[in-house]
Amino acid sequence: MLAMMISRSLARALWPLPTLLCAACSGPPLTPTVEANPVPEDPGPVVPDGAICAPPRLQAEPAALELTEPQAPLPCENEMAPSQHTPTRPLGIGYTSGDNPIPERTIYLTFDDGPSEWTNTFLDILANKGVKATFFVTAKQLKGPEGLDGTYVDPAGRTIAYRDLIKRIVDDGHVLANHTVNHPDLARITRAQMSGEIEQNELLVNRALVKTGALPRLLPLFRPPYGSPWYTGVAGMVPPRASERISSHGLNIMWNISSTDAADWAIDESYSPTATPTVAPGEPRPNFADKVARIKNAVLASPQFAAGAGIIVLMHDTHSATREALPDIIDGLAAANYAFETIDQYVEWRWQRPAIDLTPGPALYQACIAERNWGCASFGVPVGTDREREVCGRMWVGFQAFGGESALGVPLAAPVQNPDTGIISQAFERATLELHPENEAPCNVVAFQR
Ligand SMILES: [Zn+2]
Repeated sequence: MLAMMISRSLARALWPLPTLLCAACSGPPLTPTVEANPVPEDPGPVVPDGAICAPPRLQAEPAALELTEPQAPLPCENEMAPSQHTPTRPLGIGYTSGDNPIPERTIYLTFDDGPSEWTNTFLDILANKGVKATFFVTAKQLKGPEGLDGTYVDPAGRTIAYRDLIKRIVDDGHVLANHTVNHPDLARITRAQMSGEIEQNELLVNRALVKTGALPRLLPLFRPPYGSPWYTGVAGMVPPRASERISSHGLNIMWNISSTDAADWAIDESYSPTATPTVAPGEPRPNFADKVARIKNAVLASPQFAAGAGIIVLMHDTHSATREALPDIIDGLAAANYAFETIDQYVEWRWQRPAIDLTPGPALYQACIAERNWGCASFGVPVGTDREREVCGRMWVGFQAFGGESALGVPLAAPVQNPDTGIISQAFERATLELHPENEAPCNVVAFQR
């Protein structure tokens, strides 16, 4: 109770929002407790000492907020001051309409659906070849949304936790990205389910990372399972809906070459050394060697490769045939002077910003401004000219949730990531905001009084 009183007085001193305190958060009280509690199996969201977490987006009636006149929400059309700009936020790569440039003679290796019992051997190959890739992972592969404790026994008899594969992906310098928790077809689920799949995957992957001792990280890159609805031709009216929903969480990342590795299971191909794939009786299956050759040719015999064009190739670290094809694919690309880059590098190349700046984050932001139109706000200078005067992407979610310029003041610096904690912070005139990607919204954004 004392903690609650202290936290309320702290919040009251900080913000004129007494009805939107951290009661909205599922985390522990805002003030530190002196009890030495045992560490729970899954600690859940943690709000740092001295901080308050972001209240929900200001949706309550103004009267309930007890806002004074200057702090009252502005009408929609005036929400952004004339000196602020909201450039169009990109939707991502590979929508069926629109321009999707890829730098020439550049290859982006992408692996979906992992981690699996093969992932370590994929990482061995990439390390041996000295190239980086992008992994779109699913939390269900960590074996259960609750425990994240799944293990397997490798051929050497070692017990490997799936979550340690996630950590190795990060430690080896690859990019970790979001592929939903349960791998549903987005064209066949509701918008709310779609949001849950994306948000929960980011949260669970981060909880798994934290369990390994690794730093949490945001997953602003998203790939829809099956490429659906864009690459599956499902329901003509669905793509705009899915596009809007995905763009409120991150950048949608498609591909321009499919390795075809997930189209079938070859004879003697397996999901893992200890399990065999489910294949319908009588289903035609290629020979293993034929499938390996097919995967290689999908890249090395493609018109894009022949032309020296940029390539984003879809592969899966869940197929052993892909693993067998990978060294020759890398060698063939390297021999043709292809540069190996990650999707993070693509985003920097195409939009001159890190992916985190181009995505709104896990907390849905209900602004009057269409979500796709609020990539960054710039204060007093044209957008894109002074990073230290901007609030972008996910930090913008927190900024708005805490009351915006009237409560926090203008930005004083660009966001910085603490190399020891992984926490991203940005200083404003009257407070510092922090992003904690391992926490659930709204506690993924916290504020400290300056
Ligand atoms: Zn997939």
